[in-house]
Amino acid sequence: MTPTSNTPTSNTPTSNTPTSDKVPNTMRIDLHCHSVASHDCLIPLEDFPERCLEAGIKVQAITDHDQLWGGLELQNIVAQSPYADTFTVIAGEEVMTQEGEIIGLFLQERITPKQTPEATIAAIREQGGLVLLPHGFDPKKRHRLKPAALQRVYQDIDIIEIFNARVSNPKYNEAARTFAQEHHLAMSAGTDAHTLKDIGAAYVETPTRAINTPEDLIAALQAGHVEGQWTHPVEAFAYKMWDQARTLVGNFTSANSP
Ligand SMILES: [Zn+2]
Repeated sequence: MTPTSNTPTSNTPTSNTPTSDKVPNTMRIDLHCHSVASHDCLIPLEDFPERCLEAGIKVQAITDHDQLWGGLELQNIVAQSPYADTFTVIAGEEVMTQEGEIIGLFLQERITPKQTPEATIAAIREQGGLVLLPHGFDPKKRHRLKPAALQRVYQDIDIIEIFNARVSNPKYNEAARTFAQEHHLAMSAGTDAHTLKDIGAAYVETPTRAINTPEDLIAALQAGHVEGQWTHPVEAFAYKMWDQARTLVGNFTSANSP
């Protein structure tokens, strides 16, 4: 057991505590969230910059299920907006492999799903991207990367998500942290947001710097620390359903108003 495991520190968030106040000269990075490009999410791309900046998130990875277009399109939206100098979007994809999910970051082209984990990682590398393991230690996440696959490929993983706001139990985040520490891998946080409200619930807080390349990101993660607010999965699911129903009703009403 590593000494930091289960030790309450500022890095070990407790459920339902408010996130800490924004610290001057630092910024927050969230490397896992979904948009309207995912089959199970309705967040419009245009809504991200304002909501993220409100939560102090200056670097947001968009990691849609088996899709890359959300992140690429948001990069274009931001480039032509007043947020171009203050908000960075990393285009990513949460790719379903034959043995569970792997995230690719800094991608230019969509990775085809349902390949082996090894082929998926190779495809991410070919584009110069980074490989991130999301919610890799939660047995209740049916799409987590299978333990046998993790054993085969962990040396090719760059970043372990050690705080996912939507794991079934916070202890699985601790298991991820222990694994990352044992293998000296960079550590990240992800909201895994499927609604706008979830944005800001998990992040790496790090000294403010430009993130243009994979190397910039790894350096920022290494200089930062992880913070987050865990959401009980039942509560997260109920909210998502309510939010989606509300959005659909809103769309219907505006489509049918004169
Ligand atoms: Zn996800």
